[in-house]
Amino acid sequence: MVDDELYREIILEHYHHPRYKGALPDANLTAEGMNPLCGDELTLYLKTDGDRIVEARFDGRGCSISQASASMLTEAVRGLTLHEAKGLQERVKAMLTGAPHEPFDEDDDLSALEGVKNYPVRIKCALLAWTTLGEILGQQEE
Ligand code: ZN
Repeated sequence: MVDDELYREIILEHYHHPRYKGALPDANLTAEGMNPLCGDELTLYLKTDGDRIVEARFDGRGCSISQASASMLTEAVRGLTLHEAKGLQERVKAMLTGAPHEPFDEDDDLSALEGVKNYPVRIKCALLAWTTLGEILGQQEE
């Protein structure tokens, strides 16, 4: 369990220094997400080579948790296959909603998102990037 201080620190670090932020002109998969409760907006861009995600970026605006979660996502899905990304997406979703899941290592930034569970009103903020990813992956399965 990540303590409160650490969780805030990691989230703020990603918020102030987002990884891979900005449009990706040659993305072949994109989706937009919104969390009207908080006013968070997000566009997720993926570029795949065959089944593998070779580039991931996001653009958007909103609260620190929504933007930090998107930043962590773009970092985490790089190099994964779409199938692996789906597994990761389900794992993060389970963590945020309190469902059984394989926990993330403490040194994995994604573990910081678990702290959001203690703030039910912010869970949708943290989930936004991951539900947007889920939308992209869902399109691929059809
Ligand atoms: Zn938010």
